[in-house]
Amino acid sequence: MTPIHYAQRRRQVLSAVVASGLEGALLTTPVNVRYLTGFTGTNGWLLMTAEQAFFFTDPRYQQQALAQVGELSIVIAPRGLLKTLAEAVVPSGIQRVAFEPHYVTVILREQLEAVAEVEWVPFPMLVETQRCCKDAEEIEAIRAALLVSEAAFQEVANRLVPGQTEIEIASDLELYCRRHGAESMAFETIVASGSRSALPHGVASTRCIEEGGPIMIDMGCKIDGYCSDLTRMIWCGGVPSRRWLEAHDVVKRARSAALEMIGPGIAAIEVDAVARAVIQDAGYGPAFVHGTGHGVGLEIHESPKVSSRSDGQLEVGMVFTIEPGLYLEGEFGIRIEDMVCVTEDGCERLTTLEPEPMLRGTA
Ligand code: ZN
Ligand code: ZN
Repeated sequence: MTPIHYAQRRRQVLSAVVASGLEGALLTTPVNVRYLTGFTGTNGWLLMTAEQAFFFTDPRYQQQALAQVGELSIVIAPRGLLKTLAEAVVPSGIQRVAFEPHYVTVILREQLEAVAEVEWVPFPMLVETQRCCKDAEEIEAIRAALLVSEAAFQEVANRLVPGQTEIEIASDLELYCRRHGAESMAFETIVASGSRSALPHGVASTRCIEEGGPIMIDMGCKIDGYCSDLTRMIWCGGVPSRRWLEAHDVVKRARSAALEMIGPGIAAIEVDAVARAVIQDAGYGPAFVHGTGHGVGLEIHESPKVSSRSDGQLEVGMVFTIEPGLYLEGEFGIRIEDMVCVTEDGCERLTTLEPEPMLRGTA
């Protein structure tokens, strides 16, 4: 990513702001600041007007800011970003400035209001809308993060044995990812075995893997700031129960139906509906307790949502998951999760692993 890329992104945000009759925008959410500048620190604000882009940070990040956002007007703020922001914004003469209502706290809002002569206007999803559609570099980073996750899954699942704890398996997955270039995990690794697999978010516990039972693994890591997200099912030892195999097949068919539906101009809610219909028709309707998918990028959950409450249409370049599931309390849960990118004629599956369950040590 070059400074020109970031400048283009900032111009796009600014044109949305100007089209709404505002003169500038204040970005305070770290992930949005990163998207628009490349700054990876935790404390940096971006104030953009048609004429200038100011970047505010504290002295800890002085060197980093020079290296990452040297083309912006960097303001080091030893007495807090707000005070320095007020000093910069008042002389600039701008009067109506957009802010991010999803992230600005009540306290910060009050403090902003105290900055004389400026009207702060909430602008929901200002940057998030733009972040939905990924460019080639973003897709490559996501693909790289996904490849590492898939390799980790295969490596660890292949040598998994009964008696290991879920936490041991999670730490093996995480170690593999870190050793193969991941900056961090994208979220807390889910390893849920036996009846715990009925917990949609069963993060790894001290429970031991039992012979002859299911395991759900849902994991992802980050490369260049971008996340991956992958869920696959394992059966460890013996022959899987017929009920489990049938349920797995239902989820697999729901996944296929969703994948076939994806394309530009399709309403996200329709993709959810076709997956849901397969699970419903098989008699498991109430057991599918979440949406079919979510956008993935710099954040593990971002726009677009693919659920029964979605109201948008899919566009070329959107990257999201397809992860139908069903959860039977006291028995088991099943989820299969892939990542896709919307293309001109449908979608590209970014996940390369097949959806079939991994059968470990099955006779
Ligand atoms: Zn996941
Ligand atoms: Zn997911």
